[in-house]
Amino acid sequence: MNTVLYGLGSRPTLSIITSRSCPYRCSFCNMWLVHGPRWRPRSPENVLGEIEEIVNRYKAEHIFIMDDNFNFDPERIKIICEGIIRKGFRFRWNTPNGISVKGVDAEMAYLMKRSGCANVCIGIESGSEYIRNDIMKKNLSNEEIEKATMHFKAAKIPVGGFIIIGMPGEDNNHFEKTVGFVRRLPLSFVVPGFAIPFPGTKLYRDLVDMGIIDKDFMVDIDNFNYPIFSTTDFTKEELLKRRKRLLMSFYSSHIPMIFRELVEGRLSWVGLNMIKRVCREKVFNK
Ligand code: SF4
Repeated sequence: MNTVLYGLGSRPTLSIITSRSCPYRCSFCNMWLVHGPRWRPRSPENVLGEIEEIVNRYKAEHIFIMDDNFNFDPERIKIICEGIIRKGFRFRWNTPNGISVKGVDAEMAYLMKRSGCANVCIGIESGSEYIRNDIMKKNLSNEEIEKATMHFKAAKIPVGGFIIIGMPGEDNNHFEKTVGFVRRLPLSFVVPGFAIPFPGTKLYRDLVDMGIIDKDFMVDIDNFNYPIFSTTDFTKEELLKRRKRLLMSFYSSHIPMIFRELVEGRLSWVGLNMIKRVCREKVFNK
């Protein structure tokens, strides 16, 4: 593991996968195409056995849990967290691919924190329920996102939000709802990206039907920081400007909270990297 690349300093870090795939079908997501149609978990005992080995034998101090949907079964997560606490393993962990908002309650957040969870990222995707649910097929309300965020905040787990800009159908009104929504939420950082049409997804088929991409279009995985296509409402340059507006608006409204987490040593490397990016864009206009 390249600890410098992942911003972890010299902390020894290893990755595990405790379950495969995700049964949902968000229109932009290809996880079920890569990992199969069903969510397939390992048992809590099996997962705890691997954690014991990599903490005690390989001396990992941080674990990336790389599942597609780690908390699809809320009871399984609680049993794993309780096992970590009971066995006294001392390490920090997070889920770089994000964690599902569904099923999050106060008990889950509390057990996650006690077992060493350093931060979580949730898939907000958009502040517009029309874009999130009718276009992206997330089946997730603003209220569910607000509640889950509050549970994590109450447990003192910093929360980041993944955002997707440039879905077909998104206009300026939808985008401004996203800006307003993340300003209201007590997030520690946001990670805005652009819509990516992975082959086999509904998004891909929609864009082919709309004539925006060819049917043999291939995704350039080296270039996720730049919009891949213009939409009917935004050119690529306009999409870039909107990402900048989202970052500036969010961080200008969250300075006191981020400063507090920085002082308390709770801000994650993802959050710090996003702040660095904002400073670069603001000061050097890059
Ligand atoms: S985006 Fe997340 S919730 Fe949606 S299908 Fe992919 S892994 Fe599942």
